[in-house]
Amino acid sequence: MTQAYFNVKNRVAAPVTLVAVSKTYFAVDIRPVLEAGQRVFGENRVQEAQEKWPALKHEYPDVKLHLIGPLQSNKAADAVALFDVIQTVDRTKIAEALAKETKKQKRDLQFYIQVNTGSEPQKAGILPEAADQFIIDCKEKYGLNVVGLMCIPPVNENPVPHFKMLAQIAKRNSLAELSMGMSSDFEIAIGAGATVVRVGSAIFGSRQITK
Ligand SMILES: *Cc1c(COP(=O)(O)O)cnc(C)c1O
Repeated sequence: MTQAYFNVKNRVAAPVTLVAVSKTYFAVDIRPVLEAGQRVFGENRVQEAQEKWPALKHEYPDVKLHLIGPLQSNKAADAVALFDVIQTVDRTKIAEALAKETKKQKRDLQFYIQVNTGSEPQKAGILPEAADQFIIDCKEKYGLNVVGLMCIPPVNENPVPHFKMLAQIAKRNSLAELSMGMSSDFEIAIGAGATVVRVGSAIFGSRQITK
């Protein structure tokens, strides 16, 4: 279930990693999805993930956990200890904190740079015009294992131009992974080249609380 083959027009059939977004859901809801064979999960808050995932990871040691929400530098140590992939690297302070912690804890994580493709003032992510230099800094200055890019397009906007912009930035920086597409638009994202989709409500049902 983790890797599915999609065959969309204009896209070579290639594996797409499904990140099952389990935020707001408890272990009792997550366990059936684990039993069905899903092994890649996403959470958007470090503290919430700490409350439910250490026990589940103990039961299912091959689980890969992705952080898909904003990270504060005072939570970097906890995030590095628990997560396998951090998709939301978007500023120098976080890159520095993650570099320090991965070395200290001798952990081998993968990182994605989050790009604010809509240049929305309130939204996380590096601005598109600053992305190239930030990617270089993360790799060369901080030594982070950067594998791809992530975006959350503005709501109520056609996501396609945003997906295309992310794909272009990834291509010119030789990054293989593109994390884009959620429950409402993952098929469109796959058509635009997504290699990773983050799907919550389409798997777990609609959330009571929006986080
Ligand atoms: C919650 C969330 C998702 C999943 O959203 P759904 O609409 O439930 O599929 C994907 N990405 C991020 C960053 C999220 O916070």
